[in-house]
Amino acid sequence: MLNFRLTQKQRALQEKARVFALEEVLPVAWYYDEQDEIPMAVLRKAFDTGIIGTDIPKEFGGRGLGLLESALITEEIAAACPGLATSIFDSSLGMEPILLSSNQTAKKNYLPKIAKDFKLAAFATSEPTMGSDVAGIRCLAEADGDGYLLNGTKYWITNGGVADYLSVFATTNPKDRHKGICAFLVETSWDGVSIGRPIPKLGQRCSNTVGIHLKNVRVPKKNILALPGEGFVLAMKTFARTRPIIGSFGVGAARAATEYALDYAKKRRAFGMELSHFQAIQFKLAEMFQKVETSRLLTWKAAWDADQGEDGTVSASIAKLYATETALEVVNEALQIFGGYGYTKMFPIEKLLRDVRLLRIYEGTSEVQRIILADHLLTKYRPLLPPLEDLPLHRGLDPMDTGPDRAAAKVWRCRICGHVHYGDTPPAACPYCFFPETAFKEIQ
Ligand SMILES: Cc1cc2nc3c(=O)[nH]c(=O)nc-3n(C[C@H](O)[C@H](O)[C@H](O)COP(=O)(O)OP(=O)(O)OC[C@H]3O[C@@H](n4cnc5c(N)ncnc54)[C@H](O)[C@@H]3O)c2cc1C
Repeated sequence: MLNFRLTQKQRALQEKARVFALEEVLPVAWYYDEQDEIPMAVLRKAFDTGIIGTDIPKEFGGRGLGLLESALITEEIAAACPGLATSIFDSSLGMEPILLSSNQTAKKNYLPKIAKDFKLAAFATSEPTMGSDVAGIRCLAEADGDGYLLNGTKYWITNGGVADYLSVFATTNPKDRHKGICAFLVETSWDGVSIGRPIPKLGQRCSNTVGIHLKNVRVPKKNILALPGEGFVLAMKTFARTRPIIGSFGVGAARAATEYALDYAKKRRAFGMELSHFQAIQFKLAEMFQKVETSRLLTWKAAWDADQGEDGTVSASIAKLYATETALEVVNEALQIFGGYGYTKMFPIEKLLRDVRLLRIYEGTSEVQRIILADHLLTKYRPLLPPLEDLPLHRGLDPMDTGPDRAAAKVWRCRICGHVHYGDTPPAACPYCFFPETAFKEIQ
């Protein structure tokens, strides 16, 4: 049965996250954005409040909540600051390869620490020369006894400068592409791990983004998350579970922009009346609102799919693609409603615009989501309607059909232009497109 009503517990969690967002995140977001600094004290409070890593299973000391709960929390935090939402959610991204791995030792060793000790995990597939093409990883993993030695540089690592653990994806041989990709749990305190300077960014400046250099970093067997050949699938499975939440970043940011624009439109006057009286402004607000609502439905659906244990790859891509593309459109329209003030740092729209711009890039760009969806359509999707050339006919209703014995006649359809011919044999040539009789297929 379909049901969009949140449970009492879910509503309570949503309310808790909303209060946290309004009291702890919103008041400091602008300051830390200006400082270009990750507010660790806010992350700590988020942890103490119980809104970080809510999806860690109970058996490992976590709360065992679902992805839908993560979506509820994330929308609230992102409405106050998408950058801080990234910082807060990133530990779930970093932890997901451990959760999905078959390595029980790593789960027992690390998940309880993430759940109880405020240890943060970060996720590292990207490199200075590679992002979308995950099979093109160059960071080298060489067998060393029963463990591995890692050498290479990972780049764009969110929370990399503050995380305790890294899920590192590497390769035993770059030429092997997908078959060489493997994954490891690396502690940032280990010998050979160097953290780069925070990368200066357009937006999401409340999140920390760094390069991480690995030089002869020895990973013991117990920290292997995926053997060579299994790492690519592990990365893709991770994205299928984390992309819905990137959608929630978009929902939160777009909702905030809509609410701010609504407020502004009701108060700002032009031509003797409030902006909200102009239908052009009303229509903008209506469009923005429908995009927020649609995006939320898609992200909840994708999160729900993941919570059912189903392969949510397609719904996650749709949610990520739609919610992040429309978030940028919504925030951009909000800025238009604010006029010149929208372009200033005195109102929150300028920061939101910079922050949401990232959503179309990380965890698979919009182009990558389209590639995934196109591949699904072309190789896996099973149409429910018959192929065009087999479409059934309403013989008595076909205005093109003038033959007296049409009910009895065989029916032939031209595969090129669609013309339908009635008769015992196909015509020598199609009267419309002139293709020969071989272009005709008999419709049963
Ligand atoms: C602030 C920030 C935080 C990040 N955090 C993390 C993190 O924590 N961990 C991590 O591993 N990575 C992280 N990333 C990296 C992010 O995932 C990549 O930037 C992203 O996947 C795109 O890779 P790229 O930048 O190398 O672009 P490229 O892959 O070089 O692509 C450049 C452009 O070409 C397009 N393109 C590429 N291939 C195709 C194709 N086949 N068809 C059509 N278009 C194509 C892309 O869509 C893009 O528009 C982060 C990035 C940023 C900016």
